[in-house]
Amino acid sequence: MSTFENTLSFARTQDASDPLRAFRDEFLFPQLNGEAVIYFTGNSLGLQPKGAAAAIRQELDDWAALGVEGHLRGKHPWYSYHEELTGPTARLVGAKEEEVVVMNQLTSNLHFLLVSFYRPDGKRRVILTEQRPFPSDTYALASQISFHGGVPDRDLVEVAPREGEHTLRTEDIIGRINDVGEELALVCFGGVNFYTGQAFEMEAIAKAAHAVGAVAGFDLAHAAGNLQLRLHDWNIDFAAWCTYKYLNSGPGSVAGAFIHERHLGKGLPLFAGWWGHDKHERFKMERTFKPMPTAEAWQVSNAPVLSMAVHRTALEQFDRAGMDNLRAKSERLTGYLAFVIGEAAKATGGQLEIITPSNPAQRGCQLSIVAHGRGKDLFHAICSHGVFADWREPNVIRIAPVPLYNTFEDVYRFGAILNSCLQ
Ligand SMILES: *Cc1c(COP(=O)(O)O)cnc(C)c1O
Repeated sequence: MSTFENTLSFARTQDASDPLRAFRDEFLFPQLNGEAVIYFTGNSLGLQPKGAAAAIRQELDDWAALGVEGHLRGKHPWYSYHEELTGPTARLVGAKEEEVVVMNQLTSNLHFLLVSFYRPDGKRRVILTEQRPFPSDTYALASQISFHGGVPDRDLVEVAPREGEHTLRTEDIIGRINDVGEELALVCFGGVNFYTGQAFEMEAIAKAAHAVGAVAGFDLAHAAGNLQLRLHDWNIDFAAWCTYKYLNSGPGSVAGAFIHERHLGKGLPLFAGWWGHDKHERFKMERTFKPMPTAEAWQVSNAPVLSMAVHRTALEQFDRAGMDNLRAKSERLTGYLAFVIGEAAKATGGQLEIITPSNPAQRGCQLSIVAHGRGKDLFHAICSHGVFADWREPNVIRIAPVPLYNTFEDVYRFGAILNSCLQ
């Protein structure tokens, strides 16, 4: 029996008892006709925290007042600015502090990590990934293969769903890892697939990769700030994520990286820069690179403080809310979304198929909907009612209710709009 009701009063009762409800007021919403839109695109660009402007202002003020001395004398000294992000980042992804660093951007970080972790050797050259990864990941992986003299058409292998299915079964992923066996150099998967919304069983995938002598890395663009992650305990080798999606840190903001403790201080090959050099000796300007003993060894450049200022504000909200609490709300909010979509389909005879797994353990907050017999017109109709959703070719509407700022009322109202657009 369903525990949900398709009524405004039910939705409002849920919101009234939501311990995280106050966070919504900490965000700026785009407006339509003087009203906040129903914002379901936090998987693409998270909303702006109200504290972002003041955080940037602080750095501009320190720059104005102190000039170069802001590096050491600013309120948040720029020289060590990234260190303020380490604690909240480690808590967010389930890592030890020495395992994480905030730097660069996502695809750049993938490349820097692949330099260390994709080391094709003899016949061990294959990279295994999910079908339809985000295009940037495909470009990064294929170009790394070419860079090492390999052939992407041969060495980049995608695991596809079974005939008639949209998502991957873990047993099939593991079966494929075992089949490729000693030719497998690296498994590089998303944490959550951007298109289907499927959350992969990262721990099981990493374990299978290790069993055949390969390494396992993850692109957590759609997982960081969405799922409860335990990167250290899951024995993930490396990971990278952006911070402008679920992490609300602004367009093109700085990204995150994780390198498991067991790879630190082992002299792994890396592309070096001065910010990865031992911080106590950085300004001796020595010729010989002496890496930091932590994930900070992978830093190449000094920190982009203005975007880090926003990220610091956003991480502070995650710390206050707690990822466990966010996830508890998220499972219920997305469950309610699945329910109202089902109600709209029932009421109208609309053929709506949710291709995201129905098991909450296999998804984050996003649901991907295929409307059979309807195309982009349905998407445009929904948007014209003040819903921010997105469309992915060939025929998927992605809806991502975010537990930090979306409400059950948002979801209820979306269901009513969907219903009227299907009539
Ligand atoms: C959003 C996203 C990207 C974007 O990469 P940038 O380097 O941040 O521009 C890459 N990969 C995945 C899986 C994404 O979801």
